[in-house]
Amino acid sequence: MKHPIAIALLGLVVSSGARAQEVVPEAERALVREVYRELVETDTTHSSGSTTRAAELVASRLREAGIPPADIAQLGPSPNKGNLVARLHGSGAEKPLVLLAHLDVVEAKRDDWSVDPFVLLEQGGYFYGRGTLDDKAMAAIFTTTFLRLAREHAPLRRDVILALTADEESGDANGVDWLLREHRDLVDGGLVLNEGGGGWMRQGKYLVLALQASEKTYMDYSVVVTDKGGHSSLPTPENAIYRLSAGLLRLQKLVFPVELNEVTRAFLQRAAVTESKGVAASMRALAANAKDAAAARRLSQEPRYNALIRTTCVATQVEAGHARNALPQRASANVNCRILPGHSAAEVRAAIVKALADPKLEVALDEKETAGPRASVDPEFLKTVERVSAQVFPGVPVVPTMSSGATDSKYFRIAGIPAYGVSGIFVDIDDVRAHGRDERIGVKQFYEGQEFLWRLVGELTASPR
Ligand SMILES: [Zn+2]
Repeated sequence: MKHPIAIALLGLVVSSGARAQEVVPEAERALVREVYRELVETDTTHSSGSTTRAAELVASRLREAGIPPADIAQLGPSPNKGNLVARLHGSGAEKPLVLLAHLDVVEAKRDDWSVDPFVLLEQGGYFYGRGTLDDKAMAAIFTTTFLRLAREHAPLRRDVILALTADEESGDANGVDWLLREHRDLVDGGLVLNEGGGGWMRQGKYLVLALQASEKTYMDYSVVVTDKGGHSSLPTPENAIYRLSAGLLRLQKLVFPVELNEVTRAFLQRAAVTESKGVAASMRALAANAKDAAAARRLSQEPRYNALIRTTCVATQVEAGHARNALPQRASANVNCRILPGHSAAEVRAAIVKALADPKLEVALDEKETAGPRASVDPEFLKTVERVSAQVFPGVPVVPTMSSGATDSKYFRIAGIPAYGVSGIFVDIDDVRAHGRDERIGVKQFYEGQEFLWRLVGELTASPR
C-alpha cells in the first residue's frame, strides 16, 4: 500500500532518488509519538515504577482499536512486573513473528539530570527522557506497527505477536524468561525482532546498520580464600588478603585465545569501513585469518575489539577482613566473565582455576550455567534486512554484530527461536546515553526507525498476493 505524503513535510533527506517514496503517514507519526510519550512518562523503574501500568496503557489502546480481548494477555509473576502479549492472526504459512521490547527502564534520579527524566521533552532535534532510547522507542514503534497492521487488515502469512516485557534491566522477574517458562504458547515463534541492533553514526554521518545476531554469556565467579585469622599484632606468613591478591595478579595475565565465529567474522569484514586505515587493515586481516597474530595484537589494544574476539574475565569487586586489628579470616573477589558463544561456564571456570594456580583459592559459579548458543545469521533474513535498509538508508552497509552485554534475545536463542537485534534507529557512537543521564534519541532517527521497522515487518509478514 502506498502512502503518497509529501516527503518535505517529514524533513527526511531523500538521497539521489534511490530512496523509495513510501513513507509512514503523518497520522502514524503522531500516534507513535503519543504512545512514546505515555510510555516514557510512566515510571517503569525497578525501585518505584511498574511495568504493569505501562502494559495497561498499551492494552487499552489495543482494545480501543478493536483487537479482541482474547488476543490480549496481561500477565506477570508479581503486581508491578506485568507483561503484555498480543496477537494478530495470519494464515500460519510461517511460524509467528515476535516484536519484542522491554518496558522497564534503568533508574534515573531527577537531581542527576538536567531535565525531568520522566517527561518526554523534544528539544534541539532530540527526544529526552529515561527510556527514550532503551527501550521505549522500540516499544512505541512496535505498538503502532501492530495497530496499523490490524487497522489495515493486512493479509499476513504468519501471526504477529507483540511482546512488551518486564525486568530486562534489573529485578528477578524477567518477562521473557518467565513467559518462555510459564506461557511458552503465547510467545512461541519462528523469529524475534528485539533491541540490541540499530544504526551507528558519527557526527551525522550514517556508518553501518548493526544487526545483532549473537551475544556473549554473562557469568560471575567468586574467588574465596579463608584462614583461621588471629591478632594483627602477631602477623603470620599466611594471610588471606595476600593470598587472594597474588592469585588475582596471576589471573590478570589470563588471556583467552582469539576465536571468531560466523557473526564476528562478518562484523570484522563489514565494519572495517568505519575505522581508520590501520585498524581497518587489521580487522580485514583477522577476518581472513584468525591466526594472524599481528592483527590480533593490534585489535586487542581496543577494548571493544578485544571483547569481540575472545572470552574475557576481569576482577570487579573485592571484599576482605572483618576488623582493622585482626588478621583476615576471609578474602573474596568477584570475577566477571563474558563468554563467547559455544563455550561453557565450566570451561571458563577451569581456565580461572588454572590461572590462579593456588588450590586454597576456591572458585564458584554465581549463576546457573547456560552456555550461549552458536552464533549464526540466517542468510535469508540478512538479505531481507539488507533490502529494506537499502531503501531507507541507501549506501549504508548492514553489519552482523555480537554484543558483549546481554539482551533478552538470549532467552529466545537458548529456547531455539532465532532472535535478532535490529531497529533502524541511528545513534552517535561517541554519545551513547542509554543507562546514563539525559538519555536521548534524535527525533529524525526515531521516525526513521519507525519507517524502517514498518517496512521490515511488512516484508516479514505480508502474504503473497
Ligand atoms: Zn534495553
